[in-house]
Amino acid sequence: MTPLQLQGIGMTSQRTRDRLVGRLIEQGIKNPDVLAVMADTPRHIFVDEALSHRAYEDTSLPIGFGQTISRPYIVAKMTELLLKTGPLESVLEIGTGCGYQTLVLSQVAKRIHSVERIEGLQKKARQRLSLLRVNNVRFKHADGNWGWPEEGPFDAILSAAAPETIPKELTLQLNIGGRLIIPVGIGDDQQLTLVTRTEDGFKKEILEAVKFVPMLSGTKAIKG
Ligand code: SAH
Repeated sequence: MTPLQLQGIGMTSQRTRDRLVGRLIEQGIKNPDVLAVMADTPRHIFVDEALSHRAYEDTSLPIGFGQTISRPYIVAKMTELLLKTGPLESVLEIGTGCGYQTLVLSQVAKRIHSVERIEGLQKKARQRLSLLRVNNVRFKHADGNWGWPEEGPFDAILSAAAPETIPKELTLQLNIGGRLIIPVGIGDDQQLTLVTRTEDGFKKEILEAVKFVPMLSGTKAIKG
């Protein structure tokens, strides 16, 4: 897929984004499509104006409602892992947050379905992506523990929130050969985990220690 046409938005930060990509390469990100998308995606429009000067640091930042935007490294890493087996048609994202990872995914897969439990965050993310004229993403305000069964099965599922154990419903919404990338664990003791659905079951690989917000249950209609 061609990188997003930015039409002026965020082009002022191109040099800063190129430096970010340099750091991603140093950290081991190799997929050229992922690097191109990271170079073209404006992260500063996803954080409060007061924090926008820090948008291209490799750090998580607050996005309101007690949640954080994921570190660019982890966004790139998870996207690279999902793409390892080839091009993706359909992706389910759990935890839309501000929509930055959603925008990255929308440029490497045909169709994205994104679920968020906090209505205020979901609304803002939807507005930002529509402003950027992204039209291959569908949003749902729901508890992502249950996935989005009506739209599945998916080639890939990415969770940006950490459950204590892997929700079975999510694994059941994978195509054969499909991959679920998800942080699993409690508090500081979380592991990035890759589950692949095979002909006769599931294969689980533990990848690296990570720190994500917890996967909570139910939905919240906080206005923002
Ligand atoms: N990639 C996002 C990450 C946001 S943090 C970004 O960069 O902005 C993780 C998000 O997961 C939060 O917005 C949180 O509200 C959401 N979340 C937590 N539990 C959830 C659940 N059960 N269903 C859907 N979203 C959930």
